[in-house]
Amino acid sequence: LVSRDFHPENTIVDVAGVRVGHGCRPVMVAGPCAVEGEEQIVKTALFVKKAGADMLRGGAFKPRTGPHTFQGMREEGLKLLALAGKESGLPIVTEVMSPDNVGLVAEYTDLMQVGARNMQNFDLLRELGRIRKPVLLKRGMSATIEEFLAAAEYILAEGNEQVILCERGIRTYETATRNTLDLAVVPLIKEMSHLPIMVDPSHATGKRSLVPPMTLAALMAGAHGVLVEVHPEPEKALSDGPQSLTFPGFDQLMADVRRLNGFL
Ligand code: PEP
Ligand code: MN
Repeated sequence: LVSRDFHPENTIVDVAGVRVGHGCRPVMVAGPCAVEGEEQIVKTALFVKKAGADMLRGGAFKPRTGPHTFQGMREEGLKLLALAGKESGLPIVTEVMSPDNVGLVAEYTDLMQVGARNMQNFDLLRELGRIRKPVLLKRGMSATIEEFLAAAEYILAEGNEQVILCERGIRTYETATRNTLDLAVVPLIKEMSHLPIMVDPSHATGKRSLVPPMTLAALMAGAHGVLVEVHPEPEKALSDGPQSLTFPGFDQLMADVRRLNGFL
């Protein structure tokens, strides 16, 4: 179902009126790694909206590597995200970690994110296939393209075709960057599948200074959108501060993106 061979028309995913996919202007999704409080998320939403973002991201359920770190504000975080979405007018993207929470998260969000660590959580994928909300499926950090597309197939097989794929870096022997951004998947997925493909240079690099150049590279490679982490005070962020752009950093990046879009 994900393959072009059996589905030649391109899929356009409609996220609360923002269209993503082949032939659409690339979209910019921005926001903090995690929702940390009302002021933080509303302030960020209003700022990224003014800078030109198309959607707001922010985690309420966080899949942290260890159990003793900040795990997210959960339902309270979803409520704050919905508030920030309303105040800014931006559609909301947030992660759902468990099949049990699909209904709850769907009440508050416009685009349901499956994190890299859950790419092969098949019960979660099946549950997302049964709802009528678009899904953002991130590539597992050790997943091949075949496994990535097979994971998307689980969602489509249950009847939900509104799926956006997202490359977010893979594990290699290299440790100087958090992950290795595999940009070749962008044109490759476009050849293989009708589904839109986005790129997350924040989790791929783990380093703020690398996010702007890799954003531009992703757009040049043909990505249908880019997800970046932005925080009002990255040094105080409860997660992923080192890779989060500052407000001025995001503003500058958006200026560069607009110039680049003029060429694309
Ligand atoms: C995130 O987007 O905050 C996240 C946890 O990403 P990933 O699943 O790609 O690590
Ligand atoms: Mn993060």
